[in-house]
Amino acid sequence: MLSVTDLTSYMYCSRKLYFNKVLGVREKASVVGIKGTIKHAVFEDAGREDKDVLCSFLEKDSLESLEMKYRSVYYKVLMFHIQRMKKELEFQGLKTVVVYQELWPFFLKEAQEKSSHFFALGKEKNLYGETLWLALPKSVPELRIVSEKLQLIGVIDRVDLVDGFIPIEIKTGSAPKEGVWKENMIQLGAYMLLLSEHYGKEITEGYIEYRAISERRKVFMNPFLKDEIFELLGKVRETLRSKDLPEKTKDVRKCEGCGIREICYNQP
Ligand code: SF4
Repeated sequence: MLSVTDLTSYMYCSRKLYFNKVLGVREKASVVGIKGTIKHAVFEDAGREDKDVLCSFLEKDSLESLEMKYRSVYYKVLMFHIQRMKKELEFQGLKTVVVYQELWPFFLKEAQEKSSHFFALGKEKNLYGETLWLALPKSVPELRIVSEKLQLIGVIDRVDLVDGFIPIEIKTGSAPKEGVWKENMIQLGAYMLLLSEHYGKEITEGYIEYRAISERRKVFMNPFLKDEIFELLGKVRETLRSKDLPEKTKDVRKCEGCGIREICYNQP
């Protein structure tokens, strides 16, 4: 069975996927990868604290006090994940304090935006505490879906339950000027297929949340995207069944930061 990330890994470099899945060569986490893992985990875990923060938000509370609550949530969660990844960071020659200094402004902005959003929403609807929390659209984090029919597994960052199921993929890296990166579109499209199959209901839209620019961008399912995903699934299966190592990627910039470059370049 394939995972949705196999599709995006294939798009990045089919040879790397082959090394990983067929030959069992694991890549050591890169600096960018470790920081991305930390950011992603902080978003997820801080999101789980929304209920507690909002249930304690009262009518008399100021925007500053709500922001302080969110700041302390992000601080606590960020510190936890930096410590969790301490070994990997130190292996890459990075001090945890330096990583904290680099990542904190990112989450401070997130704490400020989130508190402003919920503060304004509370005022507008005149809802506070648990009533505000209960009035918010609900979502399911980290939803894992397995499809026997598609022979595909996916773990969706979040599924918003708004008139159906809306898959959300969170990205902490850079965003394109417009629309979404191709890999992101394929990933989200595959989640839509998984959700549609699982719930027996056509899911036709989802969002990529580019946290670095605080924007969510919509992706629609269409017949072309569907065909592209099925075609890609076929190519990935074919590659992984093959006895031949795929060619190196033509985009040599990808090789510069690749953790298995030495092994790869020693092969024909
Ligand atoms: S070194 Fe380049 S070609 Fe080889 S696996 Fe890495 S990205 Fe792919």
